[in-house]
Amino acid sequence: MELYELTIHELLDKLRTGETTSAAITASVFERIDAVEGDVHAYITLMRESALAEAAQADERIKKGKMGPLTGIPIALKDIYCTRGVPTTCGSRILQNFIPPYDATVVEKLRAAGAVFTGKTNMDEFAMGSSTETSAFGVTRNPWDLERIPGGSSGGSAAAVAADECIAAFGSDTGGSIRQPAALCGIVGLKPTYGRVSRYGLIAFASSLDQIGPFTKDVEDAAILMNVIAGYDPRESTSVPEEVPDYRTFLGKGIEGWTVGIPKEYFVEGIDPEVEAAIRRAIQVVEGMGARCVEVSLPHSRYCLAVYYIVAPAEASSNLARYDGVKYGFRAEECRDLLDMYKKSRSAGFGAEVKRRIMIGTYALSSGYYDAYYKKASQVRALIKGDFDEAFKRCDVLLTPTTPTPAFRIGEKMDDPIQMYLSDIFTISTNLAGVPGISVPCGYTQAGLPIGVQFMAGHFQEGRLIQCASAYEKQAKIEKRRPKL
Ligand code: GLN
Repeated sequence: MELYELTIHELLDKLRTGETTSAAITASVFERIDAVEGDVHAYITLMRESALAEAAQADERIKKGKMGPLTGIPIALKDIYCTRGVPTTCGSRILQNFIPPYDATVVEKLRAAGAVFTGKTNMDEFAMGSSTETSAFGVTRNPWDLERIPGGSSGGSAAAVAADECIAAFGSDTGGSIRQPAALCGIVGLKPTYGRVSRYGLIAFASSLDQIGPFTKDVEDAAILMNVIAGYDPRESTSVPEEVPDYRTFLGKGIEGWTVGIPKEYFVEGIDPEVEAAIRRAIQVVEGMGARCVEVSLPHSRYCLAVYYIVAPAEASSNLARYDGVKYGFRAEECRDLLDMYKKSRSAGFGAEVKRRIMIGTYALSSGYYDAYYKKASQVRALIKGDFDEAFKRCDVLLTPTTPTPAFRIGEKMDDPIQMYLSDIFTISTNLAGVPGISVPCGYTQAGLPIGVQFMAGHFQEGRLIQCASAYEKQAKIEKRRPKL
């Protein structure tokens, strides 16, 4: 077993006993990057030098007996997290040369916990996409099949973990961007409750939906990372001063006597038969653990996609107004006047999908249309949230597929935005409702592509998700395969 293949908790054990060093782990991860990154292209920026320095510091700390919760562990960050002194592009040409003067709160917390940063991972431009193909810096390939997409928008982070190019990674999830790529790359991805993790320093896409979360090789690692990142931040007005439990205490507990809701609207036409079969098997596993699976209804599910594609572009059109070429980011040359500079900078700086969202959002917010679109969408959103409130009166968690299909081919959906948007049909609802969701591997297709099962829970019930997902992981015993790279 190579060091880069191990989990956070396995490596922490080895560091604690002195069996290995962070320098050795970090060197192993970079050897792996050198071997496979040419095929996968998970990263936009590698931070080799600073990582090796951080590893040396971690080893010093361990020697002095001052080990933190992540000391010496190599972790990758989606290129949407502001990192002081390190380029942060958000996958866009408009931020190609942007070097933030500060760290995101989550980056600060990870640093304080002792993490070693391997680099910044590839992503769909401004996190708009489901395949990582809208990045201005090339596509990321799915480690399980290099002709296929890794999912998106945090595809680089998911691919990096699946290809062992880091031990764990971070992403952001506005409509599925953590859970969907986690499912398509065969790893664990958790989107916490809206308000659970500070987004200070996370470049904003849709502020009422964005959340930060981890990509890990198993559920225990997700619990370890949640312990580090969760909690109130006075610099982030939507973060909630709700007590943070020790998420590790939810591991290994079982779910006997739980009620698990199976929303009937999530088993619809268009779902791939192999995915559906894997989810049916997951339901049996859950029942085998002594939980009761009951059919529930989330009656407004069919409006989720439409609501999301009003709310998210509306907020994006407002958030992205700041990229005007004035203070930072890309500025077009040879401009006649200020207006000409705005136009040329934004025309050349943004890609097609981002422009589409800005146009939809601006339209939906404009006077005369606001009531018909944005206001109506907000009202339906409240109904969607109400569906979840009702379901969680009866159920401890809900179980659904994470994605309707396994990873699709590169290029397959680029000319058809609606088909692309449909890849998030099962993940968008939790963002609209603000509740947490986790994707856990639940099998493979005949062709060997990973499939994920999603669990959802009520607000601030990440502990419950971790309990259920870790119990499932242990009971299902999904064969541990590694992509052949
Ligand atoms: N694919 C969805 C979109 O393009 C969700 C993206 C995300 O969660 N950031 O908006």
